[in-house]
Amino acid sequence: MSYGQLCPYLDSKGFALHNLASLPHISIAGACTTATHGSGVKNGNLATAASALEIVTADGELIKLSRQNDGETFRGAVVGLGALGVIAKVTLDIQPTFMMRQYVYENLPLAQLKEHFDAIESSAYSVSLFTDWQKQRLNEVWIKSRVEAGHAFDATPEFFGAKLATRNLHPIAELSAENCTEQMGVPGPWYERLPHFRMGFTPSAGKELQSEYFVPREHALEAILAVERLRDQVTPHLMISEIRAIAADDLWMSPCYKQACITLHFTWKQDWPAVSKLLPVIEKELAPFNARPHWGKLFTTSPASLKSIYAKLPEFVQLSKKYDPQGKFRNEFLERNIFG
Ligand SMILES: Cc1cc2nc3c(=O)[nH]c(=O)nc-3n(C[C@H](O)[C@H](O)[C@H](O)COP(=O)(O)OP(=O)(O)OC[C@H]3O[C@@H](n4cnc5c(N)ncnc54)[C@H](O)[C@@H]3O)c2cc1C
Repeated sequence: MSYGQLCPYLDSKGFALHNLASLPHISIAGACTTATHGSGVKNGNLATAASALEIVTADGELIKLSRQNDGETFRGAVVGLGALGVIAKVTLDIQPTFMMRQYVYENLPLAQLKEHFDAIESSAYSVSLFTDWQKQRLNEVWIKSRVEAGHAFDATPEFFGAKLATRNLHPIAELSAENCTEQMGVPGPWYERLPHFRMGFTPSAGKELQSEYFVPREHALEAILAVERLRDQVTPHLMISEIRAIAADDLWMSPCYKQACITLHFTWKQDWPAVSKLLPVIEKELAPFNARPHWGKLFTTSPASLKSIYAKLPEFVQLSKKYDPQGKFRNEFLERNIFG
């Protein structure tokens, strides 16, 4: 089941999820098992909403694991990268439904970000910054605010030097905003404001490649500036970058394990030979911050580096071997990055 299928049903019963990714098209099992995330300094990734799992293991047995009963085993299994078995059921935390407003600002000066990064990222329930890394500015700031007393975002015409947009925008301003969720402060249900892209339309730009790196929150600005220095290498191959914030969690294989993060995302033009040469350059610049790559996107980080930045990786290997001793669910990705 995809979030796009679940959310309208959930909303019709008066409930909501805490957060969503940039698109509702993705599957719930696929998102949780790869630690897919949205934005918001107080919002954990989508996997943190999972409170129980039912998994069909290699021997055909159905195992049930829950946050309440299985402690560390459960925390090891949620971001499972498909290694433990087939997830047949996921139980998610829900909350009462809520309404949101979305505002977009254009052209936030980099100098303002340097001065006020925390204030900008914390200014609403979910904040995303889009940039092509050029001209010392962030092209767009997407602000998603809950319509609730005490939470309302005050949509002044100017926001840290950026200007309030007067029409709906695509993250890549030149593209039509037809596939984007409603902006301009029009109130709407949570599931039609938390994603950037609408169900029923091609999300993002369609044909593209993606990479994303998680950096501990305390190194956010240094990491952003490290990528900004690479702008003339990055921009020719880039459609757009996005910077988001995610709260810390306790899921073993989550890139936010025990650390609040910001993420640096790259939507690349579909040119893998060029992108594959660029990723090691970016990864080298981000290595001092122990940057962790998104499991569901393209990276070239070595297996040895992954081991050094995932403290729980050895225990995750043991957990996987417990449920899949013969490696029935192993694939090339898992062999290389986890078991290699
Ligand atoms: C346009 C676009 C926008 C995106 N935006 C975001 C974003 O905002 N934030 C973000 O974090 N990521 C984003 N992503 C990447 C996203 O994290 C991955 O696509 C992710 O894998 C989501 O699930 P999926 O439906 O694509 O999963 P799938 O490709 O179905 O699954 C991913 C992996 O999960 C495992 N898996 C899937 N189903 C099961 C199951 N039932 N049992 C066991 N294992 C299973 C498998 O190992 C599989 O390879 C985006 C991707 C695209 C294409």
